[in-house]
Amino acid sequence: MPFDGWLKSLPTDTPRHVRTDLEILRAHPFSFLGAQQVVNQIERLSAHLGSQPPLIRRAAISYSLYIRQLDAIQEMENGIRQSCARDCQRPPVGCCNSEHHVILSLSDILIARPTQNSLHLAHVLTTLQNREHAHSLEQGRLIRPGYCSHLTATGCTLRMFKSPRCIHYLCPQVEESMTAMHGDNAAPFLAAMHAIGSCVIHTLEDFTSAAVIEAAETLFPGKKSAGEH
Ligand code: SF4
Repeated sequence: MPFDGWLKSLPTDTPRHVRTDLEILRAHPFSFLGAQQVVNQIERLSAHLGSQPPLIRRAAISYSLYIRQLDAIQEMENGIRQSCARDCQRPPVGCCNSEHHVILSLSDILIARPTQNSLHLAHVLTTLQNREHAHSLEQGRLIRPGYCSHLTATGCTLRMFKSPRCIHYLCPQVEESMTAMHGDNAAPFLAAMHAIGSCVIHTLEDFTSAAVIEAAETLFPGKKSAGEH
């Protein structure tokens, strides 16, 4: 249970906003997660981020729930992860050949000039990402030298706090594989992933995409709320 083990390992700052965060964040549907997964994740992250400003704390928790939904979508049977593992034409590491885990690079910051809230959220996400990475290494994962510093012999150390760049990128081969499997129905999902993956982050809204989730709900109607992962 990689998510739950890591969430349990997070130190509590203050639990005083947990109830409010649950009320506000659970008002949104999380189609690809089980109800208890959502509750556990909000409770643990709210308590851990208790001293952060409400806007940033809730944006960070929402980001984690969004990434976890995309993780569930990628894990589906005959899905994106299996296609990567089985058919990659750029072995041995495919796309994980550089430091794509960085949430906002210095050039992103200097060129795009994100808002203060975006910079604050990127800082919080990077701190959480560092914790998730460290936790994975504590579980015995071994880094694969020479590629992305988060790549191990058994894959990425990150699942909940992957960067927008990593979570949205689909290589042409994966796109072809999804089109072969789903026909024209794959097009809206692929277009939404490409649009958010190639957008420059300016505001809090640029970290995630409602269009991606909506397209995935249409593409995988029977796979919603798939349960624990
Ligand atoms: S963070 Fe993970 S998914 Fe992204 S490039 Fe590195 S190893 Fe690959």
